[in-house]
Amino acid sequence: MARWLMVVCGAAGFCVGLASCTRRDAVPRQGEPERSEVPSVELRVYVFLDDDFIRRFGNADGTGRRRVNDWLYETERQMQAGGFPVVIRMAGMGRWRLPAGALDGTAIWAKHVPQSWPGEADANCMIALTGREGVYWSGVSKWPRIFSKAQAAEPIDVKTVNLLCHEISHWFGATDIIDPDFPELSVMNYKARHFAREDGRVQWDKANRERMLQGLRNWRH
Ligand SMILES: [Zn+2]
Repeated sequence: MARWLMVVCGAAGFCVGLASCTRRDAVPRQGEPERSEVPSVELRVYVFLDDDFIRRFGNADGTGRRRVNDWLYETERQMQAGGFPVVIRMAGMGRWRLPAGALDGTAIWAKHVPQSWPGEADANCMIALTGREGVYWSGVSKWPRIFSKAQAAEPIDVKTVNLLCHEISHWFGATDIIDPDFPELSVMNYKARHFAREDGRVQWDKANRERMLQGLRNWRH
């Protein structure tokens, strides 16, 4: 538990340092009636894998692809169960290179995460995954890009899906929480208990839920 907290804390801490980490343009203009419907948003994700990922999980033609597919499917399932009509599709896979010794997520995001995906891919966003276990800061997000680490300690799948839910939620306006005593379970809280899950389902706090629903209603990408 503590290890998971530390890992997610790193991810979210990094997000705090990025002023542009969250969208802040999701507030309806004065006098404009707030639309109640929440349209479905399709994320067509191009996924980059590094050498460490392939060494641990397999390549883009085999077990590595299946693992990523499972994570994306589970992330979509969790977000939909949470009330967010998000559809996640794999638009393609490619390789990215993380130089030997690169462990600082800040520097990795700034220098090494690809800026875009191949033009022929029908993608609208990307996730650069690393399998490097020693990397600190687990994730960073700024639309349309995410840097994410495949988690190192068990349960890897649960933690990695949590991280993907966390980072994708930022795209829709969710903000970080750093509070071990926060009364609600939330995947946005680095200090969340029980992996921010209840009965196997990822939880979001009320304020972030409202931000995200507003973000989805106003989604223009
Ligand atoms: Zn965060």
